[in-house]
Order: sequence, then structure tokens, then C-alpha cells
Amino acid sequence: MSLPPRTAVLIVGAGPSGLAAALSLNHRGVNDIVIVDAILAGENSSRAMVIQAATLEALNSVGCLDKLLPIGEKAQALFMNHGSSYLISTDFSLLAPYTKYPFGLVLPQTATEAVMLEKLDHLGIKVWRPFKVVSLMPSQDTEEQMFDVRFESGEIVKAKYVIGADGANSVVRQEAGIAFKDPNGDEKHDYGNLSQIILGDVSLTSPPQLAARFSITSYDGNFTLMAPFPASTSPDTSRTVYRFASSVPAEDGTAPHAPNIEYLQSLMDRCGPHSLSSDPAINPHPTRIEKVYWSSRYRTRSAVAERYFTHKLDGGVILLIGDAAHIHSPIGGQGMSLGIRDAISLGPVLKAHIGSTAEGTASDKLFEDWAASRRKRALSVVALTKQAMGIINAQRKMWAPLVWCTYAVLRFVGRFTFFKRMLAYRLSGLAEI
Ligand SMILES: Cc1cc2nc3c(=O)[nH]c(=O)nc-3n(C[C@H](O)[C@H](O)[C@H](O)COP(=O)(O)OP(=O)(O)OC[C@H]3O[C@@H](n4cnc5c(N)ncnc54)[C@H](O)[C@@H]3O)c2cc1C
Repeated sequence: MSLPPRTAVLIVGAGPSGLAAALSLNHRGVNDIVIVDAILAGENSSRAMVIQAATLEALNSVGCLDKLLPIGEKAQALFMNHGSSYLISTDFSLLAPYTKYPFGLVLPQTATEAVMLEKLDHLGIKVWRPFKVVSLMPSQDTEEQMFDVRFESGEIVKAKYVIGADGANSVVRQEAGIAFKDPNGDEKHDYGNLSQIILGDVSLTSPPQLAARFSITSYDGNFTLMAPFPASTSPDTSRTVYRFASSVPAEDGTAPHAPNIEYLQSLMDRCGPHSLSSDPAINPHPTRIEKVYWSSRYRTRSAVAERYFTHKLDGGVILLIGDAAHIHSPIGGQGMSLGIRDAISLGPVLKAHIGSTAEGTASDKLFEDWAASRRKRALSVVALTKQAMGIINAQRKMWAPLVWCTYAVLRFVGRFTFFKRMLAYRLSGLAEI
């Protein structure tokens, strides 16, 4: 089927950010939108496993939370351990005075996307697939300032507003000539063992004896996380499936694209807590990976787009959201949540711009203010994830007694409610400054 030749708003990318943008625009009464994606439904890789409180608020504001809440698991706390000993934890229930959703909602990204897709479908908005954008040029044959957006299929769609929600390698961002750089100039920063992260959805021979349901364990400059899938989103209803995440020791070299059972087992034994080990000599309740349902590898990079909003030559307006605008380490589970909030906050701004254009009073200031505030938030999240990586990396980089002192301080301050609340507030996105 051919793409519509013309639209007011073209959303490039139907990952969580693009889908949320379509929902937000529709909620504001902007219906002249086309949303496209280069790949078929369900092929976007399922990276995110948690939605933060501020994002739950945002999703609720566009009527998309009622279907998500029942299928996710409400995580009240996230623990961080050093080896087998407790380091710090956060308690999301302390957010009760500030939000209706004092928890992190645990569910796979695929389930979040599926719910948003279903909602769009219900609203009569279809995602056009597989249509890959290859270039953007100002239209020469229209009176209005518009873009000719060219697709790999050879088709062209004219659009006044182009929203780049096309992920970290965004073609929209590149076509707009917007730089995408580490905000601290650390382009060549060595993240050590945290340079690569693997994810594996696995079942185990016996349930692990973990002290907490959701905990990150750091050990010798590595980290692992084991989170059970909520039953209704599990790839296998006959047993518990866990999302296993691990860093990759630098000396192991490049991880395979789709790590197999032996590779994942080796990481679990070497980088995980003793309670995940398959070795009976160190774990009285040894467990092994039984089956791998899906696995993948990711590289860590921190980058923020120089601008989230621009005109290109005399074309229309280009706006960036989600991973197209910012990426960072997945530690802390922030990226998708931030992208969804970019998208949902853009809806009213774009609606106001369309309205003011019709009245002849359109001003870029609307977009400039939105872009400045969203960019500030991304910088704050990048800083947060760098701090978290710093805590883990300290084990490799710092003099051992200094590491122990740092951890002793963390353990001490982590006992106070105000600290747990501060951490929960920061992770939840409610603290966006
Ligand atoms: C290991 C790992 C764990 C993570 N865990 C979490 C977590 O727990 N919580 C959290 O909030 N975040 C997490 N994240 C981050 C999260 O996965 C991303 O931030 C999120 O997927 C970004 O969504 P997006 O829609 O902006 O981009 P994407 O999900 O990358 O979607 C972009 C879409 O654009 C399409 N596209 C690309 N190019 C084109 C083109 N030229 N034309 C048309 N379509 C195009 C793609 O096919 C894709 O569907 C994690 C990331 C990693 C790597």
C-alpha cells in the first residue's frame, strides 16, 4: 500500500517514543499525522524492563495506563549490592505524597509498545510499515514551508513537521545536521566492563535465592541484574522467565550479537552474586540456565543532540525525541521513560504551534522552550547514569581502601529515609529539573 502523499506531522519511528508522540498528538486533537517505521511490528528489540513513575503519570494523561498497570509488576524497591553484601537501596513507596504511582512498573518493552499500538489502532491511527526514511529535503513545489521526506521505496511524503523518533542512529537527526555528542566531551571515554551490556531472557533450573526481587549486583567492576517477567508478559507461561542483564568483562573482547547459553552462564557465574552461581562449591543452591528465549548485546554510549528543534534551510520544522535525542547507559532504566515523556510533552506544544500558525502568530519560541527543557532533563539523566557507572567502575579504577571507604559512606547514608526518598525521586523522573 502506498504512503499518503502529504501530512501535517510525520513521525519517523514507531518505537515507544514515536508511538507515545502519536498518542499525545491525537489526545490534543491533532489527527493529520502519519507514523512510519522501517521494520515490521514486534521487531524492535525489547530492551527496557521498567517504566518510571513520572512516565506512568504521562501515559495516564493520554489514556494509556489502564491496560499497562494490570500486566506489569509494581516494583517497590531496587537494591544495589556489592558482591553478596548490601550497598544501597531505594524505596519507591516513599514517593506516595508526590505521585499516584509510587513504584516502577516492570514489564518488557515489547508489551509496552503492544499496548500503545493497540490504543492507536483503536483510535484509527495506523503505523505504516516497513517504510524507511532515507532523506529530507525542503519542498520546492509548495507554498508552505514543508519537507519532502524520501523513503527507501522511492515514495515521497510532504510534511510540515517531522518528528525524529528513529532511535540512536536517527536519519532525521543526521539529515538535519544536528550533532550528537557526549555532553562532557568524553567521546572516547573508557567505560571499562560497562562498555558492553548483554541481555538474555532465560529460564533457570531452580529459582535463585536472591535477597530481593529486583537487585543490581556489582562485583569487580561488573554488574548483573536478574528480574522476573510478570506472568502475563512472559514468553513462556509454563515457567518463570527472567531478564538477565550483565556487563561484559573487558578482557572477554566483543560479545556475540546473540549470546548463547554457555556465554550467558559464564557471565552469570563470573559477574553475578554467589546466589546465581552454578558452582555448588560457592552456592549451596546452585542454579543453571535451562533455556534462552532471546538475547542481545548493546554498546554503552552517552550522547545528547545539540538541538532538539530546527528548521532545515526553508523546510518545515524538525523535532527530535527519545533515543534520537539522547542515549546513555541503561543502568537505572531511564531511556524509554525519558523518551516517552519527551513525546507526550511535545503534543500540546505542537498543537499550540499549529494553532498559532493558523492565526499568523506562530513563534519558534514554543519549540525552543520545549527543546531547552527536554534537553536539560536528558543532561540530568546522562549525569545520573554516569554517576551510577562511576560507583561500579570505582572497583576497577580506585585504590581498594578508597573504594571500601566510599562504599561505607554509601551504606551509611543509604540507611536514612531521606536518602532513599531522594534516590527514588531522582530515578522516578519526578525530580526532573
Ligand atoms: C540493555 C538496555 C536496557 C534498557 N532498559 C531500559 C529500561 O529498563 N527502562 C527504560 O526506560 N529504558 C531502557 N532502555 C532504553 C530504551 O530501550 C530506549 O531508550 C528506547 O527503546 C528508546 O525508544 P525510541 O522509541 O526513542 O527508540 P527505538 O526504540 O530505538 O525505536 C526507534 C524506531 O525507529 C525505527 N527507525 C529507525 N530508523 C528509521 C528510519 N530511517 N525510517 C523509519 N523508521 C526508522 C526503528 O525501526 C525503531 O522501531 C534500555 C536500553 C538498553 C540498551
